[in-house]
Parts: sequence; structure tokens; C-alpha cells
Amino acid sequence: MSVPVSVPFADDAAAGPIREGSAAPVARSRPALSPSRAADFKQCPLKYRLRAIDRIPEPPSRAAVRGTVVHAVLEDLFGLPADERQPQRAAELVPGAWERVRAERDGIDELVAEGGPEALFAEVRKLVASYYELEDPRRFEPHGLEERVEADLDGDVPLRGFVDRIDVAPNGMLRVVDYKTGRSPGPLHEARALFQLKFYALMILRTRDIVPAQLRLIYLADKNVLTYAPDREELDRFQRILTALWRAILDAGATGDFPPTRNAMCKFCDFKALCPEFGGTPPPYPGWPEQLPVPTELPPEDL
Ligand code: SF4
Repeated sequence: MSVPVSVPFADDAAAGPIREGSAAPVARSRPALSPSRAADFKQCPLKYRLRAIDRIPEPPSRAAVRGTVVHAVLEDLFGLPADERQPQRAAELVPGAWERVRAERDGIDELVAEGGPEALFAEVRKLVASYYELEDPRRFEPHGLEERVEADLDGDVPLRGFVDRIDVAPNGMLRVVDYKTGRSPGPLHEARALFQLKFYALMILRTRDIVPAQLRLIYLADKNVLTYAPDREELDRFQRILTALWRAILDAGATGDFPPTRNAMCKFCDFKALCPEFGGTPPPYPGWPEQLPVPTELPPEDL
């Protein structure tokens, strides 16, 4: 874990957005491995199944909506000329970002019923103000924003993920940045953050043949930054771990054996009513989605 860092980019200066396991789409499309889905399977195979295969809708949380609006504000901010990216201007972007998120999502109005959207705006503005304590967006131009990245390891391990921002230094060094609107993980949960960072690094390596110079997770709630500088050998080892994990998922997918695994996150799980650990019964296993036609348009939540 580190505090704001300065890296050799000439242009230098956690709850995440709604992308996965959210309410709206229920189309059954070919699963792929993302940091979140990989974490689901490792934590509880049944949770993975209900999210990635059954695609049972989960209601969006207020925290997820707030995170999505923050991401939209930061994306809009970098769409402005550098000298216009003032903190006040960023604060003014909040209502527009909210309207955009609202237009794309059903059922989120009730999440802001208490206090109205202004209460949510205040929370978003506080997080955006925190961002300015960690980076100065007037001092660099991102190379990419909100990029969807896909890679196939060994031709048959599909990886997918969204990268919030990619910076490229004049010397070609590449930095990947992910905004988190939650707090930075304590020592017990750092492994999950590191897993995500390695996952992104590996995808960049396999799609661009570049080892990113730095991966950076920016935690806005407690103004902290987690950084990671990967090396190729470590990423090769990580690829073998992901390949083994995907094989385990395929094996479970073939048999339908996705056992529930009680864990500390059960209290936040939306599937308790379907979970044998809590007296529920899962729906009949629908089979591995690869057997079904793959939609041409994959919803973002499929990541
Ligand atoms: S409640 Fe716990 S054991 Fe049951 S599906 Fe959710 S995470 Fe798994």
C-alpha cells in the first residue's frame, strides 16, 4: 500500500461501478473470466454459478450507483480541455453524469428516494474532491478511458475486464489506473486487490505485448493508492493460475457441481434465499451457456 506516488510519466500529475452482477440484463451469454467473477468462484462456486451462468438479477446498491456516477464524472472530466478540469468544474459535472447513469439503468431512482438526488450528489462531489488530492487531472492526457479489454489465454481462457484509464508516457511506458469509491483494503483483503491488478497487467501484456510499468488502484473514500509494478515472469506464473482456475470452472460447468461455500461475505449475498447454507434451494442447473447461441452484443455486465 502506498500514498500518492509520483511515477516517471511526463504527463503525471474501491465499491466499483455497476458493471457486473447488476440487475438489468439476464441474457445467457458465454461466460468469461473477469477479476470479479474469478473472485466469486474462489469465494463461493454457487455464487459464481448464480451470477455468471444463471444470471439471476441482483438489485443495484446505492454504493454501486454512487460509484458509477463518480466514474462517469471522471470520464467526463477528461473529456474537457486540460485547463478546464478545475475542481469546481468537476463538481458541476455531477448532475449530468447522474442523468446519464439514470437513463441507462432501471430501478435506481428508489435508491436515492431518501434525501433525493442532491444527497447523492453531495456524496459524489466529496469523492471527486478527494480525487484532486491524489492526482491533478490538468497535468496529463489519458491515452484511454473506460476501455473494455478482452484477451484469450492460450486460445481458450477468455478474460474480460474494464480498465478505467490508461496513461502512456512519452517513452512508451504504460500505466493502468482503476478508481475505487470504497476504502482501501486492509492487510487481510490486499490479496484480492493484488489479484485484480495482476489480472489487468496480464490482459495488457497479452493484448499489447507490453508489461505495464505500473498498475494503480485509487481509493477515493480514504484517499489512498495501491500500486503494483509487475514483471513478465510473475505474470507468466499468474497466467498459469488463471488457466487452472478456468479449468476448474469448466469442470464445474460440465457437471453443474457448484457447491455453496459459507464465508464472511454471505451477509452481503443477494442469493441467500436460493442458498442451501441458508435453507434455500437453487434453481435447476441450466447448463453451461456455451451450449446456447452466443448473443452478438454482450452486455457490459457480462464482464
Ligand atoms: S449466501 Fe454465502 S454460501 Fe450462499 S451463495 Fe451466497 S456467498 Fe455462497
